[in-house]
Amino acid sequence: MSDSNRLRIAIQKSGRLSDDSIALLKAIGVKLQIRDRLLIAHATNLPIDLLRVRDDDIPGLVMDGVVDLGFIGENELEEKMLERQASGKKFEFKTLRRLDYGGCRLSIAVPNEFDYQGVQSLEGKKVATTYPFLLERFFKENSVNASAVMLTGSVEVAPRAGVADAICDLVSTGATLEANGLKEEEEIFQSKAVLIQRAGELPEAKAQLVSTFLPRIDGVMQAKE
Ligand code: ATP
Ligand code: ZN
Repeated sequence: MSDSNRLRIAIQKSGRLSDDSIALLKAIGVKLQIRDRLLIAHATNLPIDLLRVRDDDIPGLVMDGVVDLGFIGENELEEKMLERQASGKKFEFKTLRRLDYGGCRLSIAVPNEFDYQGVQSLEGKKVATTYPFLLERFFKENSVNASAVMLTGSVEVAPRAGVADAICDLVSTGATLEANGLKEEEEIFQSKAVLIQRAGELPEAKAQLVSTFLPRIDGVMQAKE
């Protein structure tokens, strides 16, 4: 990558967190010229490089110290933390700010015709999800013997396809669940976007730059309240 004196920030390339993360960077004074296809974007007024990747890659990039900062949803961050913990990899980072966008919840939903009486109704069932570690933690905390079936997409069609009995997926309005004949039963995790920093000290110049951002982020969020 480019010059290590430049602050490296990972953001989602394209998806639900991209526009808000870029808008926030612009609002705190980072001038960006983003070309759609490129992995890297340089700030034109500050020593900053943006690394534009899939959101799934952001926790690892921060925890491995490949980038200095990252904008990520807490759901993805927590999932990757649990995954890294399970495989003995480092999972340290610092949360600098919880942000005011990317709000959603990770919930268990079942088909409308499922007679749901509480978590014990999941005993022996298969639950499709993109977040197996968060889901298995929930099963363990609730002493339910159920299995997580990992799917990276189309989770909401799994029950109809006969692949699972229920799902555990991100919900914001609930419209997708409704459209797929599913009802939300258990909220297992509440999430918002966060700004995280890699573990360890940043070099002085980078630390200075980050310290100028934080009050500006607070100001931008207060102005929206
Ligand atoms: P990528 O291609 O980067 O892997 P993705 O398909 O995993 O993208 P998106 O659907 O863009 O991810 O969601 C990114 C993040 O946005 C989620 O992990 C979550 O933190 C947040 N989010 C907010 N609202 C929702 C929602 N209704 N559904 C899904 N994610 C949401
Ligand atoms: Zn993703």
